[in-house]
Amino acid sequence: MSISTFISGFPAGAQSSIFPKGDPLPADYFTGQAFLHPLLAKDKNNEFALGSVTFEPGARTNWHTHPKGQVLIVTEGEGFYQERGKPARRIKKGDIVNIPENVEHWHGAASTRKMVHIAITNYKGDQNVVWLKPVSAQEYQTTNDEDKYEYAQHLTARQQSIVRISAFTAAGNIDDLKVALHTGLDSGLTVNEIKEILVQLYAYCGFPRSLNGITAFMAVLEDRKARGVQDIEGRQATPFEETDKYQAGKKTLQELTGKEEKAPAGANAFAPAVDTFLKEHLFADIFSRDVLDHQQRELVTVSALAAMAGVESQLQAHVGMAKNTGLTEVQLKEVFALINQTK
Ligand code: MN
Repeated sequence: MSISTFISGFPAGAQSSIFPKGDPLPADYFTGQAFLHPLLAKDKNNEFALGSVTFEPGARTNWHTHPKGQVLIVTEGEGFYQERGKPARRIKKGDIVNIPENVEHWHGAASTRKMVHIAITNYKGDQNVVWLKPVSAQEYQTTNDEDKYEYAQHLTARQQSIVRISAFTAAGNIDDLKVALHTGLDSGLTVNEIKEILVQLYAYCGFPRSLNGITAFMAVLEDRKARGVQDIEGRQATPFEETDKYQAGKKTLQELTGKEEKAPAGANAFAPAVDTFLKEHLFADIFSRDVLDHQQRELVTVSALAAMAGVESQLQAHVGMAKNTGLTEVQLKEVFALINQTK
């Protein structure tokens, strides 16, 4: 029995790779662990060589050119293709890259993901590649960093679901909320995470809208259960054992606003009970529940407020807090674009 049988739980033959990994490629032309499994050599009909190339995470070709071009077919994983002087293009399973003749480029895996591609490399006479300098660690790092930045900028499918669920609950739009709840579960939100979103919403749009949302969610779960869908329950909140809730809530609020509060002001000073409830209950009891993190909670709040009328000053304050939890300008623009679609 091979090691891969133990690791994957599948017989070795049932692994996802189409072709064997092949033999290591020379360090003169490749950085990291790269392998070639030759499939076809040039012959009297085919003026190209065909091979499956496996790049382990971090592995890549040197910079190089092909005198008659090359076609790549990505069969597994994710990586990059970059032409000299242009931004790298992220490539993944199913992507095709048509590389023109004599264009300097490299291809390889992402730093944390492996990539396998088939390479169809055309010949000009007896030559199909001209090798150049290695892709430096700095060039490669820049590519991966820019890629992470690009990815981090946008709302994920789960975040988009949080936005829709919160906005429809706040607006009392139960029909569209049900669709958003289905999508949320399908995009990987757990049952407990969605419960938590709907519970938090009572603080922003009142018990009636929150309870209607929870009732809609119960119906959606029943419907999915009847269809045989097994939704993931997810974990529960860890118990909150803070004895001084007021101080705990005040601390959380200060973290969110990024400002120290010396003494309650405005409405909080005028009606001290509201100051107590906001800190002890909203920012301590509710925000301490770790089923959602503070960034997710601010996403819930901003989405609910953006879907309601007459709460502009609160919305403005929470956009600031959302940014302090790491949500980007681009992500927040996407939140408003999503909510405008729902109106
Ligand atoms: Mn190439």
